Amino acid sequence: MRFNMHLKDGPFDAIKAGSKDIEMRLYDDTRKQIKIGDIIEFARNDDSESLLVVVLNLHVYDSFKGIYDNFDKVRLGYKEDETAHYTDMEQYYSKENMNKYGVVGIEIKLLSEITPAILTDHSICPTCFNKENNNILYGDDTYTLVYEDDLIECFFVGNPRAKGHMAISSKKHYKDMMDIDDSLCEYVFKFARDTMNIIKDVYESESVYLCTMCDGPMNHFHLQLIPRYKEEKRGSTNFVKPRQDYVYDEVKFSEIKKRLNK
Ligand SMILES: [Zn+2]
Repeated sequence: MRFNMHLKDGPFDAIKAGSKDIEMRLYDDTRKQIKIGDIIEFARNDDSESLLVVVLNLHVYDSFKGIYDNFDKVRLGYKEDETAHYTDMEQYYSKENMNKYGVVGIEIKLLSEITPAILTDHSICPTCFNKENNNILYGDDTYTLVYEDDLIECFFVGNPRAKGHMAISSKKHYKDMMDIDDSLCEYVFKFARDTMNIIKDVYESESVYLCTMCDGPMNHFHLQLIPRYKEEKRGSTNFVKPRQDYVYDEVKFSEIKKRLNK
C-alpha cells in the first residue's frame, strides 16, 4: 500500500539528506495499516515538495521513551548538537492518545536508494515489491516482457548470461520450486519446454539450459532458460557464463512474443 504523510521542513530535509530514517508517529488505527515494504509519500507541510520512502521495519513501543532509548537521535531527525528528549513529542500528541494507542518508529529508506539486496535483507521480496508498485524497482518492462497470464510471466532477463536468456516466474509469491503446487508445476514446466524450443529455434542456439534456484525465503520462484551456442562448450559452466547487458532485438523479441501468445 501507499500512504501519504506531511512533515515540517526540518524532518523533511533530514529524511531527504538520508540522516533521519526513523519517523515517529502515534500507532493509531491508520498507522497500524502500514506494513513492511509499503511506500510512504512524505510531503512538506506547504506541499511544495514530496519524496518517496520504503518502509523497512516497524518498531512499536508503549511510549516515545522506548524509541528515544533505542535509537540515535540523528536517526530520529535531530542534529548532532541538539538535545533530544522523548517529551519533545508531546507537542504533537496528547499524553492521553500516546497511552491509548502506543507509538511506532517507522524505519524508512529513500526509494531512490533502494536496491533488491536491501529489500531482501529486510525480508521483502524484490519481485513482489516491483510488481505491487508498477515496476518501480526494475523499470519499464515493455522491451522485456513477452508473455503473461494469471499464473506466470515470461521475460528477457536484464543481465543475461547469453543472448536469448529468458526467465519464467510465478505471479504469486512462492519462495522456490519446493513450494509450488502440482498444477502450477505441471503448467510452468510445460510452458518452459515450449519456450525452450522457441528460443532454440529463433536464436539458432544449439540447446537451452534450464535452472532454478532454491536459495532462501526471499527468493521468488522462477526458471531461467539459458541458450548454449555451438561455439560454446557443453556442461555446467553454461549456468555461470558472465553476465552481459540486455540488448533489445526487435525481430527476435516480436517473433518469440508472437509464438508464445498463439
Ligand atoms: Zn515474491
